[in-house]
Amino acid sequence: MANVQQIYGEMVFDEHTMQERLPSATFKQLMRTIKDGAPLDLEVANVVAHAMKEWAIEKGATHYTHWFQPLSGITSEKHDSFIDPIDDGHAIMSFSGKELIQGEPDASSFPSGGLRATFEARGYTAWDPTSFAFIKDEVLCIPTAFCSYNGEALDKKTPLLRSMRAVSDQAIRVLELFGESCQRVVITLGAEQEYFLISEDDYKRRLDLVLTGRTLFGYSPCKGQELEDHYFGAIRPTVNNFMKELDDELWKLGVPAKTKHNEVAPCQHELAPLFANANRAIDQNLLTMEEMRLLASHYGLVCLEHEKPFEHINGSGKHNNWSMSANGKNLLEPGEHPMQNLRFLVFLAGVIQAVDDYQELLRMSAASAGNDHRLGANEAPPAIVSMFLGDELGRVVDALIQGKDYTSHDRVEMDLGVAELPNFLKDNSDRNRTSPFAFTGNKFEFRMPGSEQNLSDANMVLNTAMAKSLKEFADEMEGVPEESFKSAALDYVKRTLRDHQRIIFNGDGYSDEWPIEAEKRGLANHKNTADALPCMVTQKSLDLFSEFNVLDEAELKSRYEVKLEKYNKTMNIEIRTMKRLVRRDYLPAINDFAAEIARHIAEIKAVMPNADLSNQETKLSALLEGAAEINRHLGKLHELHHESLEIADQQERANMNAHKIVPVMDALRHAVDEMELIVERKHWPVPTYNEILFYA
Ligand code: ADP
Ligand code: MG
Repeated sequence: MANVQQIYGEMVFDEHTMQERLPSATFKQLMRTIKDGAPLDLEVANVVAHAMKEWAIEKGATHYTHWFQPLSGITSEKHDSFIDPIDDGHAIMSFSGKELIQGEPDASSFPSGGLRATFEARGYTAWDPTSFAFIKDEVLCIPTAFCSYNGEALDKKTPLLRSMRAVSDQAIRVLELFGESCQRVVITLGAEQEYFLISEDDYKRRLDLVLTGRTLFGYSPCKGQELEDHYFGAIRPTVNNFMKELDDELWKLGVPAKTKHNEVAPCQHELAPLFANANRAIDQNLLTMEEMRLLASHYGLVCLEHEKPFEHINGSGKHNNWSMSANGKNLLEPGEHPMQNLRFLVFLAGVIQAVDDYQELLRMSAASAGNDHRLGANEAPPAIVSMFLGDELGRVVDALIQGKDYTSHDRVEMDLGVAELPNFLKDNSDRNRTSPFAFTGNKFEFRMPGSEQNLSDANMVLNTAMAKSLKEFADEMEGVPEESFKSAALDYVKRTLRDHQRIIFNGDGYSDEWPIEAEKRGLANHKNTADALPCMVTQKSLDLFSEFNVLDEAELKSRYEVKLEKYNKTMNIEIRTMKRLVRRDYLPAINDFAAEIARHIAEIKAVMPNADLSNQETKLSALLEGAAEINRHLGKLHELHHESLEIADQQERANMNAHKIVPVMDALRHAVDEMELIVERKHWPVPTYNEILFYA
């Protein structure tokens, strides 16, 4: 076991290392940039670059890279070595301030949604000093933003940073009304990552997993998650070893990996870090995902990060725990008496307004082909955005809406009835696992994002919508005389809660009644990506993002295009894989087995003309009927697939994929899965769910 204190952050050029290695004037200037957002000048950058390079070389680095997040959502890197040959045939290691703060990758192959004309294909990367540089595999990685020649954002990070700035600016105005001053309000984020681990041998034999990240076929296993024996169960030794190495590697990279456990589904696990500044938390989540994929191979395992690797088995999400903090204080901490905590109520009302007004954008931020199998499918959370406040806060909000008095129940002491166990205070908020947006004591947990997603989009929407709520409050209150501020603010809170109470839902989000009730309330219910994306380019969305300079019209439209294209491309890959597998693997297997039975029947008949062969004959008919049905669906899929490829408009193509093609894919899958039940094991071409999910 590693000495955690010794290794923690050893590969990160963090604040501590900076203080140690930078002249104090440079350190102070850099801190002003990091903490207060002051601009960074080239002279400071030169000094920082030199110190960073010396540190990196001591740690064995030979290359550096601008590490960025293009619109594909995953991270990109291109390695440049530090070497600089000199005339005498030797080389020195060099790294300048300019190389630190700006890079110019040849970026013509990254998705841009039409933003980059081919004649100006260059993209630029710019250092983001608020996320620390780190060394990964002998490469100094410098977190950067990525933009076009004209400064348009081509990545996930830039608008996230802009939205953090926007919400901070407005929150500062609100805090000033309460007589509190601060330089910057920080968005805090804790991203819980779910994933599956399966054996590499099984993985290699499943082309669907290899090419699409999920199983396109497979009957549900005889045993699933019904015994609830996997959740928090003892961790199998191989997985445990994997988790230990993962923790060590993440700690070295300064990722505060905190909690690890088995999840509900067999083979499913979770890792939760301690929360951090949202920008850094997202960088750390991406690193975590990368390390998971990489390290799994050391144990003969493969890490599946897809939202729904297995049908009939829980999928994987990435809970987005979100809050705001000023001068180290959590602004969503209700305290002992939330009703008297006016500042808290203002921020709470702000979140409720933001989530109600921009529910469609939030839903959009979690939309992807993979996540369509969770949201709005047979699994939670539903595709309808609603909020859960918990018992106590729910009562506070009800009292405010109805204009009634409310006295805070003191926290209830829970007596566990066993003398040896300590009593503990019951948390103010009960947990509602079915809610997509739940208050969990002192933060909100947005549960829609999928395990594979980059959380930048979700937080960009949330921050910008919150900036809008806070701006409205500040605009109205700044003219109010000081002595009437409190009552005016309380009135404002009551009005806001009344106007937005439809978004609050404390019931069971999985129930059949909820979608009907939600429709009555006028809440949106976009069941798939094709339906969820168009809200991005409505006037309402353009207005929001341009008001706060988060995304302009061109940037927003390009992102919409990129998302549509990604959805359609993913569908295309899945359809092609499905067709290929049915033609080359499943149908031949079914036919082989049918032929074998036919031969048996003939052989037996030859010796015993009157033998009772009804059993074999029934099976043979079932196989032949099954194969015929598979062929029918395959033909239909093929036809629709080609029709869809003719559609030039990406939204229309997405509509066709979501509404016409997905049902045929489901039918085809179902027909093949039925055959899995009767085809003899030795003929079946792939490992089944029973084998994949219950390895030793
Ligand atoms: P669970 O939802 O599984 O019960 P926890 O309540 O332990 O998990 O916490 C989930 C995540 O929320 C953790 O990553 C934790 O660091 C994060 N978290 C805690 N407080 C805050 C906060 N103020 N802002 C953002 N995230 C937070
Ligand atoms: Mg959670």
